[in-house]
Amino acid sequence: MFVVGLTGGIGSGKTAATNAFKQLGITIVDADVVAREVVEPGSPALAKIAAHFGDAILLADGQLDRAALRERIFNNADEKKWLEALLHPLIHAETARQLKAANSAYVIYVSPLLIDGGQQQFCQRIVVVDVPEEQQITRTMSRDGNDRALVEKILASQINRQIRLAAASDIIDNSGDLNQLNTQVEQLHLQFLQLAKQEAQ
Ligand code: ATP
Repeated sequence: MFVVGLTGGIGSGKTAATNAFKQLGITIVDADVVAREVVEPGSPALAKIAAHFGDAILLADGQLDRAALRERIFNNADEKKWLEALLHPLIHAETARQLKAANSAYVIYVSPLLIDGGQQQFCQRIVVVDVPEEQQITRTMSRDGNDRALVEKILASQINRQIRLAAASDIIDNSGDLNQLNTQVEQLHLQFLQLAKQEAQ
């Protein structure tokens, strides 16, 4: 399977770019979706999180309150470590399973931790979705309703923009509108179809 890794900082447009690849018939494996699947109500991981942080970390319907959890871990490095030790192996195993099961010409593997999390090993290409930091902050604030200070703190905790760009085999500039994003995705799609075909020969 020809795997194209796709990454970018918070609010850079990974989901928007991924949706464009999906429209072209490409299977998406999303590390964030997998991360939600492993903590669905009834999962052993969610029970462990509730036991550790208390039931206040759950919403009324039993789902994980991701915003509350985000506040807890970004203010406490030890709690973040504890959570990652629980979730990363589960996410890794489920991601590998989904990549194996994919059946389009190539597969997009989207992950915010593609470069710093050492997940490049899965990937033949690395696409970085890039926007200036101020645009990351304002788009994230208007999407999530988080205040600027929290978004800036999350941004500062992520891999440096220049390091991320240096790891890219392909860069999507998402500082323009969605049409400009879609055009870049269509161009990359043609390249990846070609590369996947060559690889299969
Ligand atoms: P996260 O890392 O937080 O999951 P992300 O990289 O997946 O974020 P998106 O959710 O795709 O980012 O984009 C962030 C916000 O910016 C969303 O509200 C999205 O609709 C908006 N957005 C993305 N691309 C564009 C664009 N080209 N023009 C305008 N708005 C955009």
